[in-house]
Amino acid sequence: MLKDEKAIVVFSGGQDSTTCLFWALKQFKEVVAVTFDYNQRHSLEIDVAKSIANEIGVDHHILDMSLLNQLAPNALTRTDIDIEHSDGELPSTFVPGRNLVFLTFATILGYQIGARHIVTGVCETDFSGYPDCRDEFVKSCNVTLNLALDKPIVLHTPLMWINKEETWKMADELGVLDFVREKTLTCYNGIIAEGCGECPACLLRQKGLDNYLLSKGVENI
Ligand SMILES: [Zn+2]
Repeated sequence: MLKDEKAIVVFSGGQDSTTCLFWALKQFKEVVAVTFDYNQRHSLEIDVAKSIANEIGVDHHILDMSLLNQLAPNALTRTDIDIEHSDGELPSTFVPGRNLVFLTFATILGYQIGARHIVTGVCETDFSGYPDCRDEFVKSCNVTLNLALDKPIVLHTPLMWINKEETWKMADELGVLDFVREKTLTCYNGIIAEGCGECPACLLRQKGLDNYLLSKGVENI
């Protein structure tokens, strides 16, 4: 049934959303990617998203969300704020309400272009404390969007209950492990693929990959 429908993927050019993009391409007849430009710490993120969408031939919308930076300057949007994460506290990369805003705008775009399925790579498993990454929030948001638009919107979260290792496995099963490994940008220091190897995002990504390759019986190279 889903095969006949159109979906929008919230797409940042990172490992998770790129895996979601390939997941969506298997599930839906037509897939469109949307990237939010909020003056990210690394504008390279937008270029990476553009080039991936272009390479796989997916229609790509970039929405200007610089307003978000005006409302919530933080470590993801400002280079003069360090990336820090103390136990029990939200990391300095937290943008309050970001997923609420992203899902809302993606849904509005979907309304305009006839896509009622919205795919997002949020997950609870590697939960860094962002309240709007929780499954409970996404379900609540889904109900609200249905009511707001009076349409049967469906928010899809294929990564919600899987960890980084399983996300790599998913990419492998979709036949895009190397693509995701080589072309995506997750690193907070703006280095594509393996990244800087030191920031929290790189450590999480690498650990997941090492574990996956180990479980597969492949030496990491
Ligand atoms: Zn890094």
